[in-house]
Amino acid sequence: MQRPRILVVEDDARSQRLFRDILELAGYDVCQARSVEEGRCRLRDAVPALVVMDIQLPGGGGELLLSEMREDPLLPRIPVIAVTAFAMAGDRQRLIQAGFDGYISKPIDTRSFAETIAAILEEHANER
Ligand code: MN
Repeated sequence: MQRPRILVVEDDARSQRLFRDILELAGYDVCQARSVEEGRCRLRDAVPALVVMDIQLPGGGGELLLSEMREDPLLPRIPVIAVTAFAMAGDRQRLIQAGFDGYISKPIDTRSFAETIAAILEEHANER
């Protein structure tokens, strides 16, 4: 069986490494981008099953890339999870309203990270 591909858009090298290690260990095929522009390119290369998206990103931020994805008629509706260190009150609601399918705050809980991703993937598969 082919491993589901996850695109991680994250500009912090330590977080990138951590997310990749956890997700690869959980059996996913991980591809990475470090800016909004790189994210656009990766999305053109291959459509992932899910995107893990940092919010503070060079080139416009995670919300910009999400809105571009949602407006792209050629891109299927794939789940996008916001990851942000800015865990302020109201943040989660703001990001969900912006169209994110989930929200994980940094520093991430390394034990529940992959479980959260798996749950959202499963939820999305059931919707189709
Ligand atoms: Mn960042």
